[in-house]
Amino acid sequence: TYVVLDACIKCKFTDCVEVCPVDCFYEGANMLVISPDECIDCGVCEPECPVDAIKPDTEPGLEKFLEVNREYAALW
Ligand code: SF4
Repeated sequence: TYVVLDACIKCKFTDCVEVCPVDCFYEGANMLVISPDECIDCGVCEPECPVDAIKPDTEPGLEKFLEVNREYAALW
């Protein structure tokens, strides 16, 4: 899955939401999140983010953000 990081906080861009083929972005408390259960790992959102806030969870150290994404996506 791809993960939204804290650089997204207070970001007003929604370019990522518009390109996602499966609509798996959701609103968190103050940032967008990706549902790990719905993301199909296509990767098209990553280069669309103007603040570089989207990374694949295969990158080290993203466990905390993966949990944040999972928790907020589950509220919908
Ligand atoms: Fe959506 Fe693809 Fe990004 Fe996953 S990697 S959130 S499916 S655009």
